[in-house]
Amino acid sequence: MWGGATQKGVRANAAAWLAVIVLGAVAASLAALPGLERTFLLRAGERSEATLRLAVQGLEGALRRYEPLPALVAERPVLRQLLANPNDTALRDRIDDELQQTAEAVSASDIYLMDTTGLTLVASNHHKELSFVGRSFYYRPYFTEAMDGTIGRYFALGTTSGERGYFFAAPVMEAGAPIGVVAVKFTVDAFEEAWRAGDNDIIVKDQNDVVFMASRPEWHFRALSPLSDEALGRIEADRQYPLDRVIELPTTREPLAGRIGLMTIGADGASESFVASTTPIAEAGWQVTILTPTGPARTQALWVMAMVVLVILFAGLIAAIFIQRRARLVERIEAQRATQELLEQRVAERTADLNTANRKLRAEVDERKAAEQQLRKTQADLVQAGKLAALGQMSAALSHEFNQPLAAVKSYADNAAAFLQRGRTDEARDNVGRISQMADRMASISRHLRNFARRPQQKIGPVPLMHAVDDALALMEARLKSSGASVSFDRPERDIWVMGGHVRLQQVIVNLLSNALDAMQDQSEPVIGIAVEADRTTCRLDIRDRGTGVTEDMLGQIFDPFFTTKGPGNGLGLGLSISYNIVKDFGGTLSARNDPAGGAVFTIDLRVAAAPGKTAPMTHEVAAE
Ligand code: ADP
Repeated sequence: MWGGATQKGVRANAAAWLAVIVLGAVAASLAALPGLERTFLLRAGERSEATLRLAVQGLEGALRRYEPLPALVAERPVLRQLLANPNDTALRDRIDDELQQTAEAVSASDIYLMDTTGLTLVASNHHKELSFVGRSFYYRPYFTEAMDGTIGRYFALGTTSGERGYFFAAPVMEAGAPIGVVAVKFTVDAFEEAWRAGDNDIIVKDQNDVVFMASRPEWHFRALSPLSDEALGRIEADRQYPLDRVIELPTTREPLAGRIGLMTIGADGASESFVASTTPIAEAGWQVTILTPTGPARTQALWVMAMVVLVILFAGLIAAIFIQRRARLVERIEAQRATQELLEQRVAERTADLNTANRKLRAEVDERKAAEQQLRKTQADLVQAGKLAALGQMSAALSHEFNQPLAAVKSYADNAAAFLQRGRTDEARDNVGRISQMADRMASISRHLRNFARRPQQKIGPVPLMHAVDDALALMEARLKSSGASVSFDRPERDIWVMGGHVRLQQVIVNLLSNALDAMQDQSEPVIGIAVEADRTTCRLDIRDRGTGVTEDMLGQIFDPFFTTKGPGNGLGLGLSISYNIVKDFGGTLSARNDPAGGAVFTIDLRVAAAPGKTAPMTHEVAAE
């Protein structure tokens, strides 16, 4: 019980630890999301820098290409001629054509010549509807710069053309003083066109943070930071941008690393977020910024994060399964151990029970053996007592049996003495012979009595049935004679061997004969019938009388010890009980019934035994008891 509770506790602990570890790992991963996002944003920014470099190089190339052009054009003497004679129409037409050709040759948008007031005298676009000729650009900073003797550079929305362009201007010098200004303009639309093809947005802003070029037209002229009044005034004075379009575009900036930063453009509702990388073009005073949408980088970071979290959860799941499996295994082993212990305990208990039962059984067996021994002894004693009782009953007849020959011996002896005195030796010899016969008879009776009275051995073996019957009849001879009884013995031709003991069998027959005589004691001529029947396995000996018979009530009790109907001193009630047990010991049965013709029949059923070989003396069995 305690073991199970501890196991469960350990398992709950492990599960709690696992949950804490998994949650911690997930939390740590989520906490790392901003860093991860930053890494991906930086990588996106770094990747976009190549595009930025290309854009910058394109712009710088154009600037470098066009920068020396106004000065070169200004060198042309015809321009000085024209400036000296501004009204020379033929010269104007010629120069117009020349400038047109030059502009086409160098892919410049416009090349034109202004006088010192800023009035355009000739222009490459002279033939176009929106020709610069006759227009004054005195307000443009490039004009004033060129008039100051330096190279003027400027970018602005063309007031005439409406096209954004970059302007380079150089003075036309005459005797060390500027007498006019040549300006070259190139448009920037082609760059933007190229930028739009890419994935990124590119913007170019001026010193005032006003977007001058952008891959998105809607950003043109938008201010990325609030403009000062001075700056606005200058833009207005220079007519650089259309003031109605110079509106602030809300932006936020946040540095990431180096030139790379985060930038949101637009108002709250429609703001867009970009990774921004900026490079200056110093000679033009521009800042070129490439904008990469943050969406893909953020999505990528989220994906990676989701994968990491998934991996953690998966690992957690596997760990949970492992912990559970392990716990189950431990539980199973524990259960098996408990079962085994229980089993062993039960076996031990059963063994103890068995041992106790065994001991008891042994004790009982010993007790039984002792009781059996006691019983046997008692039985033997009873047999002996029964025999002695039978002898007691026979004693009267025996004394008569002995007295009669003794009286005869005396009279024969007296006669013999008288015959000898008279010299009649033959008669004397005859009498002595009779005396000898009498002595033999008495010796025979005495031997039977000795055999009968002896304690029998318990051995069982083949015995000749007729011998036992003959010996019993011999023993009973005196009583039979004194009671005037006759015995009808239907003797079989050959002897029958049965399993038993000679003396005990003889004792049983004596008992039955004695009871038969008792039952017929009131009769003047009692008759006892003895019959033998045998087959291969059993042999039956019937002893019947013509006496009182046995009542139904008595039939159930006559074999019980001490059951007797005879008066005190005449019967012990042991004869049939002992006989019954003796026959049972032989493996046979003793039973009683009434003869329909009157009287009782006692039957001894015995097992037939194989006759021993001729070498075995027949008396051996007799002697054995
Ligand atoms: P006991 O002869 O000492 O009485 P037994 O055991 O020999 O004891 O006989 C028991 C009783 O069975 C006798 O008292 C008698 O009543 C009855 N019995 C035995 N043999 C006969 C018989 N042949 N005829 C009638 N009754 C008998």
